[in-house]
Amino acid sequence: MGTYRVKAIPIDCIDTRENEVQLTLFSEEEGKFRVAVRGTKKVASSLRPALDFLHEGLFFIAERRTVDLLTEWAPLVEFNRLRQDPDAIALIGYMSRFVLTLLPSRSSEIHLYNIIKNIHFLLQVNNHHDIIKTLFEWQFLKVAGILPVLDVCAECGAESGDGDFLLDIAEGAVYCPNCTPQNGETMSRLSPGVVQYSERVKSLCDILEGSQIETMEEAEGISSGWFAAERQAGRRYETRELAKVLVRFCRYHLREDIPFWLVRLQPPGI
Ligand SMILES: [Zn+2]
Repeated sequence: MGTYRVKAIPIDCIDTRENEVQLTLFSEEEGKFRVAVRGTKKVASSLRPALDFLHEGLFFIAERRTVDLLTEWAPLVEFNRLRQDPDAIALIGYMSRFVLTLLPSRSSEIHLYNIIKNIHFLLQVNNHHDIIKTLFEWQFLKVAGILPVLDVCAECGAESGDGDFLLDIAEGAVYCPNCTPQNGETMSRLSPGVVQYSERVKSLCDILEGSQIETMEEAEGISSGWFAAERQAGRRYETRELAKVLVRFCRYHLREDIPFWLVRLQPPGI
């Protein structure tokens, strides 16, 4: 049996036995999988920090017949600024839940890995959690192969312009005002502004899925570019509406309980 190495972000940790925990990693090379970690309850354990969620590390792993074993670990990037931000931690928990619940094991998803890592960076430099959540959902639907085309009528090919488009959530198709079907029980209304904003989300996701942010300067660059432009555009209504539509879409096509995955941590005593 051999050994291998992955670059990964820890997403879940379960105490299984006296001297062993099972850590779920989301890695660049192998996608999601579990490793056993031993001896982390000893005070001097060198593997104990590997269990911490807010970092990306190099994980050295030995193959076993049962669950593979973590043998060594080295930190690569630490997202320490997020420790004081319960909303950011809630959002990271939300993303982890998608990976844990909806992705198959041992299947590499580099575009999703990139965006999750990049979101860790972005959360450290701005507090637009609502927008960042939308970016993640957009990317996840894309990876799942069910992201709807929002700017072109599925019936006549007209592009979004004057009137509201309607998105049929069940079908994953949009219709222009001329082609609106009569029996739409799962319809969501998309104003031209919402469609325009979705194009902005798409453009940022296209960038974020393609490469990894490695420094705070890069993260600040995106924040002072894309996010600052959005703030200036003042698309509050559009941001909220697209967020609603995407959650509805995730809920219909992925899991009914997705809205409850975003759990804000309450401070002790409340
Ligand atoms: Zn049409």
